[in-house]
Amino acid sequence: MYSNRNEVGEQAAESLLATATTLLESPLTPLSDDAVVELTRQVERGMRMLAAVQHRLAVEISERSIPSRAGVKTLKRFLMQTLRLSSGDAGSRVNLVDWVGTRHDTAGECVDPPLLYTAKALAAGEISIDHVRGVVAVMNRVPRTTAAEDREAAEQVLAEFARSGSPDDIAKIGDRILTHLDPDGRLTDDHDRARMRGIILGRQRPDGMSPIRGEITPTLRALLDPILAKYARPGVCNPDDPASPAVDPDHVDPDRLAAAAARDHRSAAQRTHDALLALVQSGVISTELGTHRGMSVTTVLTMNLADVEQLSGVATTATGGTLPIREALRLAEKSQPFLAVFDHAGLPLHLGRTRRLATRTQRLALIAALHGCSRPGCDAPASLCAVHHVLDYRKGGRTDLSNLTLACDPCHALVHDGPGGWKTVPRTRSSRYPGRTAWIAPTHIDPTGTPQVNHRHHASELLAQALTHLHQRNERNERSREQHHQRPPTPDSHPPPTSTAA
Ligand SMILES: [Zn+2]
Repeated sequence: MYSNRNEVGEQAAESLLATATTLLESPLTPLSDDAVVELTRQVERGMRMLAAVQHRLAVEISERSIPSRAGVKTLKRFLMQTLRLSSGDAGSRVNLVDWVGTRHDTAGECVDPPLLYTAKALAAGEISIDHVRGVVAVMNRVPRTTAAEDREAAEQVLAEFARSGSPDDIAKIGDRILTHLDPDGRLTDDHDRARMRGIILGRQRPDGMSPIRGEITPTLRALLDPILAKYARPGVCNPDDPASPAVDPDHVDPDRLAAAAARDHRSAAQRTHDALLALVQSGVISTELGTHRGMSVTTVLTMNLADVEQLSGVATTATGGTLPIREALRLAEKSQPFLAVFDHAGLPLHLGRTRRLATRTQRLALIAALHGCSRPGCDAPASLCAVHHVLDYRKGGRTDLSNLTLACDPCHALVHDGPGGWKTVPRTRSSRYPGRTAWIAPTHIDPTGTPQVNHRHHASELLAQALTHLHQRNERNERSREQHHQRPPTPDSHPPPTSTAA
């Protein structure tokens, strides 16, 4: 009996190693380019699935208490010794097992891991270990008081995101989700923020430089971001370049501005510094700031009606920031931000213009509806985007809101008819994301050519969707439990769990 069971493991290991040997030794030259790319894809998938197999084995080793019987205190140390792993590697694996490993209760029944959706995606080979680490890092920061359902929804959204996005981006989408889970900062309240605020100009050093550090409130951030978007961009306010346009780049020839940007080798930190310097020097303060990409240099606030009524949730800014609703309303009272209030998803306006350039209202509507670049995975905020015709203007595309979208300059340049070019298609009213623009990746990125929309700027929408599904599932479970209780119990309806003898 035992030897039969062992044979299963031995056979699996044998064929796994045989496959690896084949892959190492077979010549790759006869394969077509497509076949090489496809093989690379499948090998990656296999490695991801094997990572889930490692978790499964680690759980088994732990539940059988194999380490303690071998005289080793912890699973981590056992893995270090048995597999010659580094301390960091072993520690990271054991940590991940706690989040995505399926354990068993005393009756031998499977217990779902804390990150069920992530675990499933890894086991299907759809996401990598780095994706899992990203999800774990975000879920670690979810406040403990968060409702179980919200927590589950957040994990579902992150796992879904990981399926199509890069691990590098999970932290960013995580920040959005955390802001929505804890919009008024239950952990950090207004009081804390007021206490923490401050900008410290340190003592000037003998070389003439002064250190600066501090923390700013969401309000100052929301006001500062649009100013920096204009004056700290490459080519503007560059003291090293006498031909660089200074405080009033609006009346400068765009070609001259582009040339100045190409000559600009300053770091982002240096550009921020120079922008503040130029503003202070010129004496130009808020009301005289002119325009940036056709909009006044001002804060654009987008919020939704339900949030305003309940005084909860967050407003988003065109520069990609978030602001608790209460603070956003306070800001709106004092200054004059563009305020877009939405009562539902979708585009608020339809303007049948046929001019090539989008109007300010159209741009404002796009900012409010899209929040940023529409290419899947791109996190460029609206302030870095240009208005893009979904169907090219030269091919008869109209300057209608339904044919306009936001794209940052690097993404805009990806759209072309040549090899490796991306395509954009509008989503119709009846689609799942009406009014949004879907992008079709070139075949080396997505062989299926499936149109995808960008979820980066819409974490709250995904969360709401996940929550709705969870509610529906819970209601269904509730109903089936009730029906179950109404039936007269039969003797064999609840078989007692049989423990498997060792
Ligand atoms: Zn982009």
